[in-house]
Amino acid sequence: PAGDSIKENLELKDIFIAVKTTRKYHKSRLDLLFQTWISQAKRQTFIFTDWEDRELRLRAGDHMINTNCSAVHTRQALCCKMSVEYDKFLESGRKWFCHVDDDNYVNPQNLLRLLSAFSHSQDVYVGRPSLDHPIEAADHVRSDGSSTVKFWFATGGAGFCISRGLALKMSPWASLGNFISTAERVRLPDDCTIGYIIEGLLEVTLLHSPLFHSHLENLQRLRGESVLQQVTLSYGGPENKHNVVSVAGVFGLQQDPTRFRSVHCLLYPDTTWCPTKNLL
Ligand code: UDP
Ligand code: MN
Repeated sequence: PAGDSIKENLELKDIFIAVKTTRKYHKSRLDLLFQTWISQAKRQTFIFTDWEDRELRLRAGDHMINTNCSAVHTRQALCCKMSVEYDKFLESGRKWFCHVDDDNYVNPQNLLRLLSAFSHSQDVYVGRPSLDHPIEAADHVRSDGSSTVKFWFATGGAGFCISRGLALKMSPWASLGNFISTAERVRLPDDCTIGYIIEGLLEVTLLHSPLFHSHLENLQRLRGESVLQQVTLSYGGPENKHNVVSVAGVFGLQQDPTRFRSVHCLLYPDTTWCPTKNLL
């Protein structure tokens, strides 16, 4: 009934986590993810890349998807990957589609807790808006005579999730290559195009969540216990080394420049490579 929060007994296996990557980041970014959060969510994580990497294939098996999209940073190539992610999710039969980048840390338990508050058959689109205002895009002339559409979208670099119920409704604009033509028509990047389809066309609103993080924000403001309560984290990378979450007491900045190893040891202290404390 309306107004009730419909709780379902969601399990990790009901979630499909798509990680977008590219050949040049298999070593420098993906290795770190396998060592950290992916090790806790192997069966729900699928790697979408653009190169048949034998080492990665051995490690991920059929959880590595070679999209055959081109390995360049263009709208077409990125939309090509998103389109394959979407199709593979539908095929998987799982309840939730979550997309992240290869510079995101995902906390699977927090993700599960967040999604458990909803039903996968409702229309749910949750993530962090990348701007503080909706964007406006040229669209076909609408019934009210306007030719632009205003909508919010979740920034892909912070990760976002879509319920199966909503994903199915997106199908005319998103499945089997339609996503690429939709993105071309409105000339928008992949994450904006997702927002355009959901908010602009289907009129379902983005649920703004502060638990998703990209390196577009000041990550240093995330510190202490609260770091461990987020759904996703990120890091600034070589050009913005200082933009990392504040966690002390595990590894130094030299040993752990992204802070992901430190976060992982605080969450899973029994991990073999984590420092052992209080050993007699
Ligand atoms: N990426 C990609 N193809 C490229 C470049 C980047 O698929 O040619 C992916 C990359 O692996 C990451 C995402 O796109 O998951 C965003 O890339 P990056 O973090 O380098 O750039 P940002 O947009 O965050 O500055
Ligand atoms: Mn990035």
